[in-house]
Amino acid sequence: GGSGATQSDLQKARMRMSLQEHLLDFYQNNVNIPTEEQAVARRAALDICAELRVFLHAKLPDMPLREMYLSGSLYDELQVVTADHAQLMVPLILEKNLWSSIPGEDTIMNVPGFWLIRRENLEYFPRNSSYWDRCMVGGYLSPKSVLEVFDKLVAGSINWPAIGSVLDYIIRPVVPSETLTLEVQYDTERRLYVDFLPLLVMEDGTSLIAKPHRLVAERHENLWRQSFRVAETARLRALDQEDGGCRCACLKLAKAMCKLNPAVNRLNASQLTNCILLLCEKEGDWTQDALADRFLQLLRALVGHLEAGRLPCALSPKVNLFCELTEQEVDELGYTLYSALSDPAGLLRT
Ligand code: GDP
Repeated sequence: GGSGATQSDLQKARMRMSLQEHLLDFYQNNVNIPTEEQAVARRAALDICAELRVFLHAKLPDMPLREMYLSGSLYDELQVVTADHAQLMVPLILEKNLWSSIPGEDTIMNVPGFWLIRRENLEYFPRNSSYWDRCMVGGYLSPKSVLEVFDKLVAGSINWPAIGSVLDYIIRPVVPSETLTLEVQYDTERRLYVDFLPLLVMEDGTSLIAKPHRLVAERHENLWRQSFRVAETARLRALDQEDGGCRCACLKLAKAMCKLNPAVNRLNASQLTNCILLLCEKEGDWTQDALADRFLQLLRALVGHLEAGRLPCALSPKVNLFCELTEQEVDELGYTLYSALSDPAGLLRT
């Protein structure tokens, strides 16, 4: 009867309330990074970036690069748990008439969200007309080969122990590393990982990064990865700014959940961000009081996308952000998150 419904409503409200409290508590104690810790990490990254700029200008003055810069969640107030990583963006300059871009869906691999960079006009501008011809493999600019050029420099010819002792850090290249990474120990207990991320910015503003396709097959080796990070992060922030919403808080909670739980570690910031952006198209109430409801809804949405094996990028729906997960990973993630729906706080225990 009527009173029964009321009671179960009350019970649901109580559960929601406690999840809300739990989320806020977790946010304070685990997600949020003290301002001071963030500042020290940023300082260390900046020192390294400055050293690398000096080194590259001196050692390779004719390498066509735009100024390197630091980026990532540490610079967007979106890093969680510990201030431990940043990306050093290294923008390459390509001659417009010598290189052209081909979207992944127009290639034999048929992977939207990835691109090939093809060398053009070899008959008039033979090999070595472009500095980056040294990284050409089978007629395409190879991100792997670009990374190797930097790897030789950064891991091979920079005297990191010397620079480290001047800066009072312990710096060492991480080997092996999928991308090129420097480990910077800036305190007895604190480490910062700085990823080198070579980058191409095309005329229409499309950004391509030298981060290999995860399911490495030989024929995927020349693919450049389109990055939506700047645009997707800006959109999330703009939506929050319009209505004082909790989308970024929700994202940070989900990121911390994934960082602290090996079972959901495979999910990355981009997937979580896009899942929230897609949710924003359906759901308008992102007030702080709705945090627990939206967080639960995010988990449910992730389960739904995992069941479908597909998470469209909110900024480019043909891109499937799950395309680098194996079927088994998709199943395991889906199972873990589905099981968590009845006790979401369980995934937030540390
Ligand atoms: P977090 O590492 O989970 O805190 O998430 P971030 O938002 O900092 O994203 C960093 C990840 O996104 C790294 O794995 C990068 O390789 C990748 N990424 C893709 N595009 C970009 C970009 O334009 N800038 C940065 N900094 N990282 C990018």
